[in-house]
Amino acid sequence: MATTTSRDTAAVPTHADAGTPSSCQPSLAVTAAGCLRLEPSHFTNHRVDLDSLDYDPGTRKQIWEYHVNQHDEIRRAYITKGPHQPPLKKNKKSGMHNRSFQASWFEYNKSWLEYSPTTDMAYCLPCFVFHSPNGVVGQNKFTVGGFRNWKKVGGKDCYLQGHIGKDPNSAHRVAEQMCKDLMNQSQHLQRVVNHFTTEQIANNRLQLKASIFIVRYLAFQAIAFRG
Ligand SMILES: [Zn+2]
Repeated sequence: MATTTSRDTAAVPTHADAGTPSSCQPSLAVTAAGCLRLEPSHFTNHRVDLDSLDYDPGTRKQIWEYHVNQHDEIRRAYITKGPHQPPLKKNKKSGMHNRSFQASWFEYNKSWLEYSPTTDMAYCLPCFVFHSPNGVVGQNKFTVGGFRNWKKVGGKDCYLQGHIGKDPNSAHRVAEQMCKDLMNQSQHLQRVVNHFTTEQIANNRLQLKASIFIVRYLAFQAIAFRG
């Protein structure tokens, strides 16, 4: 059964909003299927504008810190944007061995590796997207704290490869799969909604024509409306 996500909704003010503080009133949301849904005020008041999301992995908030109803749409926004891989300034050295993050590491880890010039640390997008404070999925070093031990990148025991893991069920691979599933689910739902809308419009028009015909017939015949 198709479900409606909060991204597919648009909040509109209720009549009760007029002249009252917005913090006291719930608002109506229009779902993608054209239905109205009442959003509690504690949610609408804390809704985050997706355009205002911070994409710097060194300064962004964790997704679990947002309202739970918005988690999936925020996740999709980060996945759609892709890993934060800004152009790097040359000769920026850091760490115990005076090394620096290398742009070439992006090429070999294009789908996940991120770098923050703000903190001069590396992060992982999929693990960040599904990171939880309980630590069930993801690894804190690449999600919250950041990784900067550049000496451990490369070679037989490359830390980046270690993060991916050889096990098909490693935390990183599970997070990657969850990202794919979330995006596939979103596309599937959009197709269902699009299909439903076209079909529903045709059905609604037919029902409206039939209703008008019946009302006019009953009115002309002076027959009471029943049922
Ligand atoms: Zn990861």
